[in-house]
Amino acid sequence: MSLPEGTDLEAVEEAIVSRHWLLRFSPKLETLFEQDTGKQRCRELIIRAYIGIIIYDLFAIADWWATPELFSTALWVRLIFFTPLALVLITILYTSPPVFLRESLMCIGGGALATVTILYLMAMSVPAPQATLHQSMILVVLFLTVVQRIRFLYLAPTCLAFLAVHAFSLERYYGYSIGQQVAINMVFGGAVIFALIASYSMERDLRLHYLLSLRGRIQNRELDMISRRDALTGLGNRRSLEETLEFCEQSIGSSDEFSIVLLDIDHFKMFNDTAGHQAGDICLKRVAGIIQAELRGQADHAFRFGGEEFIVVLQKTALARAITIAERMRQALESAAIPHPALAPGSVVTASFGVACAQPGCDVHATDIIASADAALYAAKRNGRNQVWPRFVSVDGDLGSLRSSGTC
Ligand code: GH3
Ligand code: MG
Ligand code: MG
Repeated sequence: MSLPEGTDLEAVEEAIVSRHWLLRFSPKLETLFEQDTGKQRCRELIIRAYIGIIIYDLFAIADWWATPELFSTALWVRLIFFTPLALVLITILYTSPPVFLRESLMCIGGGALATVTILYLMAMSVPAPQATLHQSMILVVLFLTVVQRIRFLYLAPTCLAFLAVHAFSLERYYGYSIGQQVAINMVFGGAVIFALIASYSMERDLRLHYLLSLRGRIQNRELDMISRRDALTGLGNRRSLEETLEFCEQSIGSSDEFSIVLLDIDHFKMFNDTAGHQAGDICLKRVAGIIQAELRGQADHAFRFGGEEFIVVLQKTALARAITIAERMRQALESAAIPHPALAPGSVVTASFGVACAQPGCDVHATDIIASADAALYAAKRNGRNQVWPRFVSVDGDLGSLRSSGTC
């Protein structure tokens, strides 16, 4: 199950602790709960509804033995009235309807429809009605509670209505004394109360189980994100770089090109030696933030390559565009004016940039592109630092030495 962005661990923790007695989450969690469980619930309801119909129709055997004079009427009610209507309701479940419709359909189809047919048969069997008819109402309650596990808020009013209908039918169609009616109603009422208690606990457990598994999924996602981040700068680490490069490598064979920008802070050892390692760390974080701010969105990814080196992967980006982006990063770093304590007064922290591009349709590996970018970075250092290399690209995209260093 995928986890939508922004699913909040705190909200889930809170829901676990509060264990809402009304069996409802916050609207956002409730929506997520339905998204995660709704389809599976419909599938289960459908399968069990078919089983319910078969069992219901098998009661024709009881009709045959207990009320043979009613058999043809009962068969008509079961096969021509109840079964097709129940099948129509099942068909609606195939469309994964919203929770209100789904649960109501089951109460109507599995509950009210079955009860109405039972009532009809009871009415038809007067003056010698069979006890099995009103007893079978307990089966309806059991079916809705234990088999279909109708949500409590829908089940409770349905069951209370059954209780009223049960009491009415005994009084209306059976010649029982008041005492007998009370006793039979108490049996049915007891069954309804037990069913409702079971339904409440089952739904509470189901929801708690969902919250615990959701919390596990969120924690896993967070651990996964942490395992892909560099702890100091918050950029991607080598592991996530490898994953991104693997993904980009697959696209080299197709029509997509991608570029790599490798950058290295200038004279950083001197910075550390003069200002101290802690100040060096703060500087690294600031540089990382500046790089991150220059990315264009989902297609660009920045990683800490190691020490004071960073790598930026630009998907679907040609060399000329990548050089422009690298130049923008270089300028942004220079404009940030982070003082460099070891150089001449007024000097700021700068970086050198090497850029390389993988052309579409070439049989090269990401490591070749990185090697090309590294060669370009070396050239930038050699040529005086604080610059992007290659410095110039002709209008037709002639890459000069980069072509011969493996970028195809
Ligand atoms: P150049 O301009 O040629 O790149 O010179 P440089 O001094 O930047 O390069 P060099 O490779 O000699 O030094 C890199 C320094 O980066 C060495 C180390 O002190 C520093 N460094 C590497 N990782 C970290 C880190 O995590 N924190 C801090 N504060 N410094 C680091
Ligand atoms: Mg270095
Ligand atoms: Mg350096």
